[in-house]
Amino acid sequence: MSKTLNHFVGGREVEGNSGRYGEVFDPARGVVTARVPLASRQEVDTVVANAREAFEAWAHTTPLRRARVMYKFRELLEQNADRIAELITREHGKTHADALGEVTRGMEVVEFACGAPHLLKGEVTENVGTSVDSHSLRQPLGVVAGITPFNFPAMVPMWMFPVALACGNCFVLKPSERDPSASLLLAALLKEAGLPDGVFNVVHGDKEAVDALLEHPDIKAVSFVGSTPIARYIYATGSSHGKRVQALGGAKNHMIVMPDADLDQATNALMGAAYGSAGERCMAISVAVAVGDEVADALRARLVASIDKLKVGPGLAPDSDMGPLVTSQHLEKVKGYIDAGVREGAELVVDGRDFHIGDGEYSDGYYLGATLFDRVTSDMSIYREEIFGPVLCLLRAKDYDEAVKLINEHEFGNGTAIFTRDGDAARDFAHSIEVGMVGINVPIPVPMAFHSFGGWKNSLFGDHHMHGPEGVRFYTKLKTITTRWPTGIRAGMDFVMPTMD
Ligand code: NAD
Repeated sequence: MSKTLNHFVGGREVEGNSGRYGEVFDPARGVVTARVPLASRQEVDTVVANAREAFEAWAHTTPLRRARVMYKFRELLEQNADRIAELITREHGKTHADALGEVTRGMEVVEFACGAPHLLKGEVTENVGTSVDSHSLRQPLGVVAGITPFNFPAMVPMWMFPVALACGNCFVLKPSERDPSASLLLAALLKEAGLPDGVFNVVHGDKEAVDALLEHPDIKAVSFVGSTPIARYIYATGSSHGKRVQALGGAKNHMIVMPDADLDQATNALMGAAYGSAGERCMAISVAVAVGDEVADALRARLVASIDKLKVGPGLAPDSDMGPLVTSQHLEKVKGYIDAGVREGAELVVDGRDFHIGDGEYSDGYYLGATLFDRVTSDMSIYREEIFGPVLCLLRAKDYDEAVKLINEHEFGNGTAIFTRDGDAARDFAHSIEVGMVGINVPIPVPMAFHSFGGWKNSLFGDHHMHGPEGVRFYTKLKTITTRWPTGIRAGMDFVMPTMD
């Protein structure tokens, strides 16, 4: 018997009343474990009204007190990391160790948000003119919304709300309907940490709830992470309703392997970056670009040997390296890409469709083995489109310039990496590559919380990356105050544009 989840509104769980529900699966076993309410417009209105009511008091709470709530929340996250990770694994499918890593990366943003008093310090200039001083300060926006994807049900919301709350905003989270349980536990922990009711809310739903948020006059900003078509839609719709929007989209991340690279290191890096979390990471490496046929052949041989040892299994089994995909539909979609790659003429070196978990408890799970294509070309759909599964494409470039050109011409620009010992190549790569997050001998260069996360081109719509200094700018508006005291006020009236001297 599956359970029914609730929304979290005004500091408590509230049943959905739209009459519409989505199914939540355990991908390891392929069974329904819960149903999640899909909110109506009226329910979204109620959530936003609760947040609106809480805003005045929260915005006037000192940054120091807001930071103290974050400190307490951080402690609770640490104490409950295992519980959160288990919820993630049961609904997403990733391994428990990987889910724990996700919680840690989210917790780091909370640690950043604990610096709220420092982060919100403004700037002062004494004597912008004779006897005139100026200072600028940053104030919260009001109620802001976060709409998040299935692949990081705890970390991606935590890219957003710790910074938004520390800056004095109230937050409405619309998590992915595929793995919604972690967000409810985060809400409960925030309450336990002392966050006032209504400051953080969770509303579950699909397009209806998202559209209601995008059009709601009391929502001042929208942070989105998900696929590119939806990111583009969120950006266009939210902006046309006068909101600030940051909408992070999909990816196709390349890793260049240069002839001077340590191939064992590069292989290990590729294995984790391509197949970790079954390739369902926006920073996963899905394209390896070997410079020269010799490198490609050697890399391919090492990858095949490593794939042979990769253990695919349920995420809660301690020896699994890679869990199942999130849903049966997604599994079919990824298999469809493997079919397309074969049709388009790529060489299928390792076929993940051959993997079988065996009979028993997990036989209906959504498993796919690691897949490797060689001799992929830039016109193929498996190269152009985001697959979001454990499928690695190997491309062969004749030289460094050809490899760079491939990356710069791709529509996505989220993350990329180069493996090399050549400082000149590395420096040129960092300088000239058209991608937002770059790794030099680092396969998954996810910026730490005190830097900001975001891609370029069709991987991000909007002006601000997430968390770090960009997060503070996104969730606050700037005010600049110019002050003159009576001793400095000149006699007479002035009708020309004021200037300072
Ligand atoms: P998705 O775009 O299907 O869903 C994301 C969110 O949008 C969910 O909350 C969903 O309910 C909502 N949504 C879905 N369809 C909608 C519609 N038609 N109208 C309004 N809202 C809608 O993405 P997903 O499958 O959950 O996540 C995987 C995608 O997210 C991949 O493309 C991945 O690259 C991307 N992603 C990007 C980043 C990044 O930082 N750039 C990080 C994580 C994931």
